[in-house]
Amino acid sequence: MTRTELSKAVFLAREIARDVLAPQAAAVDEEKRWPAEGVAALRAALGGLVVPERFGGMGQGLSAVAQVGEATGRACASTSICFGMHLVGSAVIAAKATDSHRERYLTPIAEGRHLTTLALSEPGVGGEFWLPRTRMESSGADGLRLTGAKSFVTNGGHADSYVISTVATDPGAPPGEFSCAVVDADTPGLAWGAPWHGFGMRGNESRTLELAGVEVDRRQLLGEPGDEIWYVFSVVAPYFLMAMAGTYLGVAAAALDEARAHVTARRHAHSGRALAAQPLVQHRLGVMWARVERTRRLLHHAAATGEAGEPDALAALCSAKAEVAETAEAVVNDALTLTGGRGYSGDSALHRLLRDARAAHVMSPITDVLRVWVGKSLLGEPLLGD
Ligand SMILES: Cc1cc2nc3c(=O)[nH]c(=O)nc-3n(C[C@H](O)[C@H](O)[C@H](O)COP(=O)(O)OP(=O)(O)OC[C@H]3O[C@@H](n4cnc5c(N)ncnc54)[C@H](O)[C@@H]3O)c2cc1C
Repeated sequence: MTRTELSKAVFLAREIARDVLAPQAAAVDEEKRWPAEGVAALRAALGGLVVPERFGGMGQGLSAVAQVGEATGRACASTSICFGMHLVGSAVIAAKATDSHRERYLTPIAEGRHLTTLALSEPGVGGEFWLPRTRMESSGADGLRLTGAKSFVTNGGHADSYVISTVATDPGAPPGEFSCAVVDADTPGLAWGAPWHGFGMRGNESRTLELAGVEVDRRQLLGEPGDEIWYVFSVVAPYFLMAMAGTYLGVAAAALDEARAHVTARRHAHSGRALAAQPLVQHRLGVMWARVERTRRLLHHAAATGEAGEPDALAALCSAKAEVAETAEAVVNDALTLTGGRGYSGDSALHRLLRDARAAHVMSPITDVLRVWVGKSLLGEPLLGD
């Protein structure tokens, strides 16, 4: 991977964000519709972003996921998370890919023909996605049977395949040991619940998926028994964290843009001066800029240390998502203050940004859990368990 290739991918994402995502963002939110056009454009141009070059992909990693996420999140957070979950799913499939995974998934993904997504959360365990209850049992010599339910599956009913976590088959396995399998959308027995209507992220189509003894080929299993912890902390968590952090940093940056545009354009009749001339407004804008920029620096640092496998990578990755969640919430709030009654009106973009930003805290791993994980990692304690 070179910096030039990373820059090209981010440039492409910015163009698609400007030309396809931004013009549709308000309608996606208002109509609560899955952003088919935006996802299709991103899938066609950047679908193979994290697929290794030897499989025909662009061979990018965590930095690209974070930076592309910021570009897309700045225009439309719903579309950005839909595409982000495709990138995380692709990375999980690619991590220990077999020839069968390459042929069935990675080649079509690299060619922009296949959308995958991540189905980890469950109604019973909430945000603690590392403790799934969905079971995987052997079914004949070559098959596996999946039984359970997944919740909040982004791109639910629209993806071509779903990366599903299941509890480790060994009943004595310690917490956190799980396996992943990739399940085709047309597999008999997948039953979708009604669309979820969030108060933000309204284009996500995050739905519940019931798996009542769904039969899949054993070749759909990702990795070998014993890889589970490696999968959670080396692939699932880093990519998941960067996709979310990039998106919600984009929300914060968009709110800063809104505030800057408003205070520049708005003039009071009695003085004839723009709001931008007020020292207090300038001060607030300066604080907002610094907050976004220092969080962006942490995010880029986290992605780079994650790619290099440095010892503090986990602390940086977890902190980056936690800081982004707090930054997005704070900067959107400050932008609302600076844009006054106009920003507070129902048709202001800040209305959508405020609702979207709040999802950053509740999308797992939640901010509080991330802070605890960072503390534990600094103290050399195991992350999972009490
Ligand atoms: C827009 C959106 C998109 C999503 N997309 C996906 C997706 O594509 N794939 C996927 O797998 N999941 C996805 N999720 C699910 C998400 O990652 C969480 O699993 C889900 O939001 C948890 O919701 P819950 O109501 O079950 O939370 P609960 O588990 O009931 O938690 C409620 C609250 O309790 C507190 N809490 C819970 N557990 C702990 C703990 N261990 N320590 C401290 N406090 C705790 C937190 O404050 C938490 O917010 C998505 C969620 C949203 C909102």
